[in-house]
Amino acid sequence: MMIVGPRQPGNDIDVYLSPLIEDLTKLWEHGVDVWDGNLWETFRLHAMVFCTINDYPTYGNLSGYSVKGHHACPICEINMSFFQLKHGKKMVYTRHRRFLKHYHLYRRLKKAFNGSQENEIVPKPLNGKEVYDRVKNIITIFGKTQKKSATETNIWKKRSIFFDLPY
Ligand SMILES: [Zn+2]
Repeated sequence: MMIVGPRQPGNDIDVYLSPLIEDLTKLWEHGVDVWDGNLWETFRLHAMVFCTINDYPTYGNLSGYSVKGHHACPICEINMSFFQLKHGKKMVYTRHRRFLKHYHLYRRLKKAFNGSQENEIVPKPLNGKEVYDRVKNIITIFGKTQKKSATETNIWKKRSIFFDLPY
């Protein structure tokens, strides 16, 4: 699929995906008759989206999660730990050594990281219902007019069109 323009589509990706969602809904609910050349008969084919494979910015476009700024990690979400480098002004995300195995060497290294050990356990990723609860009341704004900054209350930018699927 080609999406016109030099910039990322943002929420507008859902406009381009809506015909696909229609087809996927039809494939799930009714299926389509397909010819089986081996058995010389037709059969009813059903299909569903199992997963998507994409880069991180596209993950943000598809899911509606703000993958930039203070809450760029969808696993940590509002419990994200970050600070801004004094000179480079880059955002640094900390407390991600907790994703390593409990006795991993890097968890104990202080000097190589931010001067502290990390003994926390891995945060639990949100399940589908928890994500839906966060986005179900969001009114999706299409076009390039929306504000880009994410705060603690708007780290989800839209209810993804994938929630329109019946499964
Ligand atoms: Zn994280």
